Amino acid sequence: MDGRGGPEVLRHGEIAEPAVGPGEVRVRVRAVALNHLDLWVRKGVAGPKLALPHILGSDVAGVVEAVGPGVQGVAPGEAVVVNPGVSCGHCERCLSGQDNLCPEYQILGEHRWGGYAELVVVPAANVLPKPQNLGFAEAAAIPLAFLTAWQMVVDKLQVRPGEDVLVMAAGSGVSVAAIQIAKLYGARVIAAAGSEEKLEKARDLGADEGVNYSRPDWFKEVRRLTGGKGADAVVDHTGAAYWEGVIKATAWGGRISLVGASSGYEALTPLSHIFYRQLTIFGSTMASKSRLYPILRWVAQGRLKPVLGSLLPLARAAEGHRLLEERQVFGKVVLEV
Ligand SMILES: [Zn+2]
Repeated sequence: MDGRGGPEVLRHGEIAEPAVGPGEVRVRVRAVALNHLDLWVRKGVAGPKLALPHILGSDVAGVVEAVGPGVQGVAPGEAVVVNPGVSCGHCERCLSGQDNLCPEYQILGEHRWGGYAELVVVPAANVLPKPQNLGFAEAAAIPLAFLTAWQMVVDKLQVRPGEDVLVMAAGSGVSVAAIQIAKLYGARVIAAAGSEEKLEKARDLGADEGVNYSRPDWFKEVRRLTGGKGADAVVDHTGAAYWEGVIKATAWGGRISLVGASSGYEALTPLSHIFYRQLTIFGSTMASKSRLYPILRWVAQGRLKPVLGSLLPLARAAEGHRLLEERQVFGKVVLEV
C-alpha cells in the first residue's frame, strides 16, 4: 500500500528483492490470507506511523527459497507455513513462552513487511513444515486465526469438556477456528451470527446450536439454550454493538475472552453484572509462537480445518479487502501469488 484509506490505496508493483540476513529465511510466497488486521493497517487504525510504502499480509504459506548465515533445520525447497509473530527470542517474556508479550513483538504485515508479495523474509524460527494434507491456500488460512483462537479458547478461557461456549461472529476467521477448537476440547458450542446462512455453515463445522444476533434480545436465546444458565465461556470480537448482550449471555462465574471490537471500541459495561455475577474478562491478542505446533498437528490429523471463503489472485487484493470489509464471506479470503 502506498497510502492510508480505502482498498484503492493498494497498488500492485515491483520492488527490489529482499535480502536475507543471519538467522533468517526468504520464502517464495504461494498464498497469503487476509485478516481484519490488514484492513486496520490499511486505514491507519493500526500502525498509523508506519513508513510507506508498506506491504501487508500476516498469513503466508510458501516455499523456502534461501536461508541466511547460521540457519539450521530448514533448507531451500521446503514447503512451509509462516508464523506471523516475530519476537526477540531472549527476553524474560520470550523465555517464559509469552513471546506475544515481548517488548519487541511484531506481527508480520503490521510492524514489518508481510506476504502480499512474491518473497518475504522472516526469522528461521517462524517457519514450520506445511501439513502435507493441505494445499498452499488452505495452509495460509491457518496461522493468525487459529493462533488467536487457540490462546482464547485453550490458554485464557481454559474450556473444559461439557461447557457451553458461545462463539460470536461465527463466520469470521477467528471464530471458525474457535468453534473447532472448542469442540476439540469437548465443549457444546453455541455459534452466533447475523444470518441464518452463516449459522448453517457454523453447524457444518460442528457448532451444536445457532443464535441470530440481529434480533435485539438475542442473549435471551443463549440463556434459553443453556437452561437459563448462560454461556460458561465466550469468544468475542464484535465490539460495542453487542457487548451488553455478551455480558448478559454469560453465566454466573463465566469467562469472556475479547480479541477485538469490530463494531466500535467505546462500549457500556454494566459493572454490577461483572462483580455480582463474578464474571472474568480476558483481553487476548495473538498467541505464543509455540501454539502453532499443536495446531498444525491437529490440522495434519484432519481434526482442525481451514475454511476458505474466497480465493483470488494477488493482483485483486483490493477486491479481497472489500469482501472482508462487507462481511460477505464465511471463512478466509486468500490471495494466490
Ligand atoms: Zn522477547
